[in-house]
Amino acid sequence: MEKHNDEQKKDNNPDEEKPGPSSENTETEEDTEDSGMEKVRKYLLQKLKINASDSESDSTTGVLKELTIDGIVDYIKQIPKCKIITMVGAGISTSAGIPDFRSPSSGLYHNLEKYNLPYPQAVFELDFFKENPEPFFTLAKQLLPEGFKPTPSHYFIRLLWEKGLLFRHYTQNIDTLERVAGLPTEKLVEAHGTFHTGHCLKCRAPYTLEWMKEKVLENIVPKCEECEEGVVKPDIVFFGEMLPDRFLYLADKDFIHADFLIIMGSSLLVQPFASLVDRVHPSCPRLLINKEKVGMQDRISRFLGLRQGLIFDAKTSHSGRDVAWLGDCDTGCQLLADKLGWGEELKELVKREHARLDAENLSAKDS
Ligand SMILES: [Zn+2]
Repeated sequence: MEKHNDEQKKDNNPDEEKPGPSSENTETEEDTEDSGMEKVRKYLLQKLKINASDSESDSTTGVLKELTIDGIVDYIKQIPKCKIITMVGAGISTSAGIPDFRSPSSGLYHNLEKYNLPYPQAVFELDFFKENPEPFFTLAKQLLPEGFKPTPSHYFIRLLWEKGLLFRHYTQNIDTLERVAGLPTEKLVEAHGTFHTGHCLKCRAPYTLEWMKEKVLENIVPKCEECEEGVVKPDIVFFGEMLPDRFLYLADKDFIHADFLIIMGSSLLVQPFASLVDRVHPSCPRLLINKEKVGMQDRISRFLGLRQGLIFDAKTSHSGRDVAWLGDCDTGCQLLADKLGWGEELKELVKREHARLDAENLSAKDS
């Protein structure tokens, strides 16, 4: 899955030679060293065919008063109708009890031993699935979104929407909890697909989650009722499959318009999702809410001055725009909501919605 590396190589467009202060005969040893390094940097940028305008040097920073949650809250309050994009991964669903199904250590794979998989991830490979769909559905049975309730993080995102601040929500999760939390589909981009719908692999006939769930819970591999041949596969993205068109289309359009980016509960290791953080405007502040710092600029990008990755070690708010808040997503969201003055509203929303879902689950079991 998601093997596409997001290579945005630009045309070779070397900087014009401009006579700088160093052309005067007054340079110190340090200046000479700097200009030497600068030459190496420019040479490498040219060799790598990277446009100098992709580099960090022209960025506008200093938009946050301070590089803290308070600095961010000030910023959000001061921009009318602040356009916020949220990007999330499995970390926002952990407290809902959803296992990390891609990890062989999650325990989900124990039931697959009888199938003699060549390696655990084969279960999510399209070619393998076409030959042998049974192991996937055995796994799916354990993680079909049943009775899972969205977390406070999901409801925080819904609050952003209710307040008119959510520009778009990008999720790596396939657990459909954003939908359960009441986020409208037009605000939602499920980058790695979803269990919410499925399609026949042969004739592409569409199927609902309810229909697939019924078969899977009865240990039946869902077969298409239209062509009576194809297997019906949930629309989650397998290894060897393209990401959804909606993701490719909207990711290109959305990010440059964002006023603020929130990244939550993702290790930012999977491309092209991870590189979305670089698509916002150079002056757009970015907040990471996660157990640990991730997605940082690497040494080579730093040396070349490339705008790639998050930078958390800026000394002052004039030289940086990224803030990391380390901890679990629900706590981070509640803190942010408190400081925005929505703390009680968020708690109420979680309570009310969880009670509603509990009642729904109960009546579903009774019928
Ligand atoms: Zn079919």
